[in-house]
Amino acid sequence: MLRRDLLRAFWAAPILSPAAKGLPPLTIKEVKVISTSGGRNYRWVFVKIITSEPGLYGIGSAGNHFQPYAVIAAIEKHLAPFLIGKNPEQIEDLWQSGHLRTYWRNGPVNNNVLSGMDMALWDIKGKRAGMPVYDLLGGKVRDAVPCYDHCGGNSKEAVVESVQKSMAKGFRHIRVQLGAYGGGGFIPAGQGSRPEGGRGGSAFDEEVYVETIPPLFDYVRSKVGFGPKLCHDVHSHLSGINAVDFCRRMQPFQMFFIEDVLAPEQLAWYKQIRQTSTTAQAVGELFTHPFEYLPLINERLIDFVRCRVSSIGGITPAKKLATICEPLGVRTAFQEGGENDPVNQLAAYHIDISHPAFGIQEENNFPEFVRELLPGTAEIRGGYLYGNGKPGLGIDINEALAAKHPLQAAPLGGHYPLDRTLDGAVVRP
Ligand code: MG
Repeated sequence: MLRRDLLRAFWAAPILSPAAKGLPPLTIKEVKVISTSGGRNYRWVFVKIITSEPGLYGIGSAGNHFQPYAVIAAIEKHLAPFLIGKNPEQIEDLWQSGHLRTYWRNGPVNNNVLSGMDMALWDIKGKRAGMPVYDLLGGKVRDAVPCYDHCGGNSKEAVVESVQKSMAKGFRHIRVQLGAYGGGGFIPAGQGSRPEGGRGGSAFDEEVYVETIPPLFDYVRSKVGFGPKLCHDVHSHLSGINAVDFCRRMQPFQMFFIEDVLAPEQLAWYKQIRQTSTTAQAVGELFTHPFEYLPLINERLIDFVRCRVSSIGGITPAKKLATICEPLGVRTAFQEGGENDPVNQLAAYHIDISHPAFGIQEENNFPEFVRELLPGTAEIRGGYLYGNGKPGLGIDINEALAAKHPLQAAPLGGHYPLDRTLDGAVVRP
């Protein structure tokens, strides 16, 4: 056969549909919400997408600790009717149409809903292909996922002890806090000059914080050296010029990163931070809209993107964000947090282990009970996160056990706890 005849035969060959490959067409039969408060004070919301193939389903995290009931209603009343009967193999199309179907988009609740769908669809695709999700994303580029540990204490001595314990466990990256978020910047309850009739609780003060935290790191470095890669989370507690000054003062301690030194409303100040120090910046725990990142990444004003996978809409947008970061030299540091769930952690794991723009992953650990509730929960050993290599995300949910631990309503609607200043004004978290 001549070469041109071979080519003609190749182009004339039909594109194989799933059916032609021996896989029958799939449809979405059911979209279930599974919510639970299993263990601790979790308020977890999962999406389970059940397909027309017997036994084939996927699980996704739609976690939103502060507004779980809004997410549940949005899935049951709006997402589920939209998905029933559709083809779960078309992840990108379902993400795009799921994103646009609400007309107004990129809010936290809508993105949590999309995330639940998106992760469940990747889980289904992986199970159908007989591959872990990371193989569908291009395959492993590292052997395991390094995590940063959380260390802290209420005194500099306690902080050092905590860091040394973490190093002994094998962590190379360690986040260091002095007590709670904003710790080091609080004027104790009843102290300080306060308004008549005002509140008496502990009060945050920016200048106290900026004076207190750099000497803490000076002490930590003097005790543990410059081997461990240290991080610190300001949790948006500083205003512009104090943030610039803080990053400059932290430069001698060679931080792996400072996290969210500014609130999302004050991103323009990152230009000044860049001009005055080389302290690395991790940004965006509160971001839900990917456009918030574009100027920061494009202008190389930050070093790490810090959003939570389930807050920006799942694996599909998080993978795209990492791919935007790659050529511009910015890295990922996907967020976890004590209230987050193992399904989201695994979604981050599959991107982390398969993406060259990976920087670090925040650790999260769960009580033993959670391994029974969510079999396949990833494990952290010696500072590294390990999945189980099973097809899909590699996790399942014990629905009977989840039903025994129903979602518990929290006092005052489960709001984020806010700090206040001496005069009683609220501090941005
Ligand atoms: Mg944070």
